[in-house]
Amino acid sequence: MKPVLTCRDIKVDFDGFYALKGVNLNVFHEEVRFLIGPNGAGKTTLLDVICGKTRATNGQVIFEGSGQIDKMQEHKIASAGIARKFQAPSIFPKLTVFENLELSVKQKKSVWALLTAKLNSEVKAKIDYILEKINLQNERNREAGELAHGQKQWLEIGMQLIQEPNLLLLDEPIAGMSGVEREKTGYLIHDIAKECSVLVVEHDMDFVRNFSKQVTVMHEGAVLCEGSMAEVQENEQVVEVYLGR
Ligand code: ADP
Repeated sequence: MKPVLTCRDIKVDFDGFYALKGVNLNVFHEEVRFLIGPNGAGKTTLLDVICGKTRATNGQVIFEGSGQIDKMQEHKIASAGIARKFQAPSIFPKLTVFENLELSVKQKKSVWALLTAKLNSEVKAKIDYILEKINLQNERNREAGELAHGQKQWLEIGMQLIQEPNLLLLDEPIAGMSGVEREKTGYLIHDIAKECSVLVVEHDMDFVRNFSKQVTVMHEGAVLCEGSMAEVQENEQVVEVYLGR
């Protein structure tokens, strides 16, 4: 199977300190890939390289349909179909849930296109579809600032999804969530993957155990091993550096 994303020998040198020392990673269609590893392993730096926030010192990032993207500007990478949800909130609290999603569509489409009635109805249908996906149908007219923490996170995911990316990058999506919210987020991520591959940085091992199929373990700027959680847990190096058994 051809990957959606390929990272080839990615190195990042921060003034003599190599945060990434030659990372190789493939993410495939309909895949949810969990990226785990101790603090400082280089997980966030790798996401930064993929979305164009940080330039790789060496190596290539190849994205299906766009070719090599590692020299492209951040907004061009986003337009090519790589969405990133940061931990810091980016919703507009005084706008309704619906309006937040509408605004996100407008960022993608041209204003001229939005002025046509046909597209407007298409946009509304798309918003309805996303609202159902993120389980916020009943909150559409609520101010986003009034939502519970988990709902705000789902809205942000919805705001990325509505731009129809091919790859969604998530940085600790369940941080601060209740148990029920975590579980819903786990199912949401797998639902999303039917349309858009997902690369998730996650620290919560219970969540990774429950919701991962493929896991990539990073340590000190390199990939230590890959496989199912059961497989990587058996890897001696992983046990030594990460799981502390
Ligand atoms: P993780 O997300 O796995 O915790 P990071 O990618 O945030 O790891 O960081 C990897 C290493 O790179 C850490 O040692 C961190 O201190 C270092 N680092 C990250 N960003 C910078 C930067 N802008 N300048 C210098 N060092 C950095």
